[in-house]
Amino acid sequence: MNTIQNNLALITQKIRDAEIKYHRAANEVSLLAISKKQSAEKIREAYNAGQKKFGESYLQEALAKQAILKDLDIEWHFIGNIQSNKTKLIAQNFNWVHSVNRLSIAEKLNAHRASIQTPLNICIEVNIDSPEDVFALAKNIAPLKHLALRGLMIMPKKGTQGKPGTALELIRDAFLMDTLSMGMSGDFEAAIAAGSTIVRIGTAIFGERNAK
Ligand SMILES: *Cc1c(COP(=O)(O)O)cnc(C)c1O
Repeated sequence: MNTIQNNLALITQKIRDAEIKYHRAANEVSLLAISKKQSAEKIREAYNAGQKKFGESYLQEALAKQAILKDLDIEWHFIGNIQSNKTKLIAQNFNWVHSVNRLSIAEKLNAHRASIQTPLNICIEVNIDSPEDVFALAKNIAPLKHLALRGLMIMPKKGTQGKPGTALELIRDAFLMDTLSMGMSGDFEAAIAAGSTIVRIGTAIFGERNAK
């Protein structure tokens, strides 16, 4: 086995073990391979080892790799900061966006997705301190018909595990969201204990990112 294949097998096993240990349903947690600042060749290697979901943070870099990898049936997730002048290309070239943090961005993604048959899956990026804002945002996003509001992306503060907290769990349930995008290379087992359904793992699969 090569390194990427080996890392994927190890992490997948750890995810399955954590599901059992923390009383989660079998296969409830999915692995999103974060390939920002990793080469198209490495993504292809991971794909050939069975990984189908990849997350990218930088639009131009992602589009370049998507062009190289267009023969593969990859599910692409955008997890980076979204500038409003990038919403068209994001809406039209990704299956999921995890980093929606304001209504104006959601509205632009919605408008640019209209030309595509399937709705764009989105998560609201949560600042853990203000669940009120998350509720208001969810309420305004839910009716947008070219978006499917799937969940919350939780970015923990340094030193905490980013547990969603009761208020956020209530919001998730009120809007019938099925996704908690939470956990990275360093804390994914704790995130699974706290209810994560998508863990976003980069360096533990691909190694250090290339500086750019
Ligand atoms: C880079 C990144 C990750 C992956 O981090 P690793 O520590 O390499 O696993 C996960 N989530 C977001 C939002 C990121 O930007």
